[in-house]
Amino acid sequence: MTSRPVINDMSSFWMPFTANRQFKSAPRLLESAKGMYYRSSDGREVLDGCAGLWCVNAGHGREQIVSAVTAQMQTMDFAPTFQMAHPLAFKAASKVAELMPEGLDRIFFTNSGSESVDTALKIAIAYHRARGEGQRTRLIGRERGYHGVGFGGISVGGIGPNRKAYSGNLIPGVDHLPHTHNPEHNSFTQGQPVWGAHLAEDLERLIALHDASTIAAVIVEPVSGSTGVLVPPQGYLQKLREITAKHGILLIFDEVITGFGRLGKATASEYFGVTPDILTLAKAINNAAIPMGAVAAHRKIHDAIVDSSSPNAIELFHGYTYSAHPAAAAACIATLDLYRGEGLFERAAGLAPFFEKTVHALRDAPFVKDIRNLGLVAGIELESRPGAPGARAYETFVKCFEAGVLIRYTGDILAFSPPLIIDEAQIHTLFDTVRKVLATVD
Ligand code: PMP
Repeated sequence: MTSRPVINDMSSFWMPFTANRQFKSAPRLLESAKGMYYRSSDGREVLDGCAGLWCVNAGHGREQIVSAVTAQMQTMDFAPTFQMAHPLAFKAASKVAELMPEGLDRIFFTNSGSESVDTALKIAIAYHRARGEGQRTRLIGRERGYHGVGFGGISVGGIGPNRKAYSGNLIPGVDHLPHTHNPEHNSFTQGQPVWGAHLAEDLERLIALHDASTIAAVIVEPVSGSTGVLVPPQGYLQKLREITAKHGILLIFDEVITGFGRLGKATASEYFGVTPDILTLAKAINNAAIPMGAVAAHRKIHDAIVDSSSPNAIELFHGYTYSAHPAAAAACIATLDLYRGEGLFERAAGLAPFFEKTVHALRDAPFVKDIRNLGLVAGIELESRPGAPGARAYETFVKCFEAGVLIRYTGDILAFSPPLIIDEAQIHTLFDTVRKVLATVD
């Protein structure tokens, strides 16, 4: 093989969701991380205000996870999971199942949230087919829903630019419920808005239009994260549950962000007291140490698919080379032990009121148009800079990073979702930095 000179000009890595050209002119490189802090390539400590990407819930560099992964890699690096298995896959699945709502104890492992979503949609369709209702293929998502970047995910997702780019290639038979955020009624709500539960009734309109017998599933994020922290109105999820149950339609909760303690409970389903039929997971499932996602399906769904198959047939023709990868499974087991051992979900619940009070104190800061929060997740919506939507939030994000705080931005919304190990002083620093930065942006 002829060797070519090593390219070291930051051109080869085509960055996700990022303009390489802009990034290269002022790169932000993170080189190490411990606890609540990253260290940047210029040697600065950066407080992690968003748990990486909503995923490092136990904080960075946790010894228990590192040593579990190291031990597993020294013992066995990889095992195929088609017609084969390894013990940690079963152990990890049992541990995840223990945290799921009653009945959702069949766990299918994936490697990301996007894969979990597409897997969940396929399971829903397979379930109906197994029960002799193969005509139930329609899917219903929601405006401003984010369900990853697979073709299934962008089809049920409700983000305009994501859909527009592939408009001729989206999967057919998909409708969308309206999103639940209405500035006139819901602005500056602390916790769940009072207004908006009736929007779930739009599902009845879609059922009247298409007939329930053609609809497989409804998928929503209990709390939308990536599209700007949209908290469900009181009673909304309950209403969705009632309508779907009445019509034999499966309800899928995309808990890629809300799973594993973000709201102070193992799942948003537990927090809201609403049990879906299928639940998607990823991110904090193993503290993001190794790529991993999962789908938790109700055992009635699993059993219907299994029972309808002839004895030696493959029950669900679906899977990934790295489903339940040994290192990811080891990280998952260590992480779930750590969450329980340190009581991190309860810790998040305990910190939530302080987090809420502190973020809402920014109400009078420049450009703040709305503030929303639940558990340890919050969003601050800024007024758009005229002619340059998103530019003000981007400037705020860059300046916060320079000031030693990592936050997320999406459109003109700043998003916060710190590791659950954060303390009150760090919560104060996080929002105080944002306040100071907002005083300097255009
Ligand atoms: N679903 C939701 C609700 C998400 O927030 C995300 C990622 N932010 C995904 C799916 C996609 O996950 P991934 O990026 O791991 O594919």
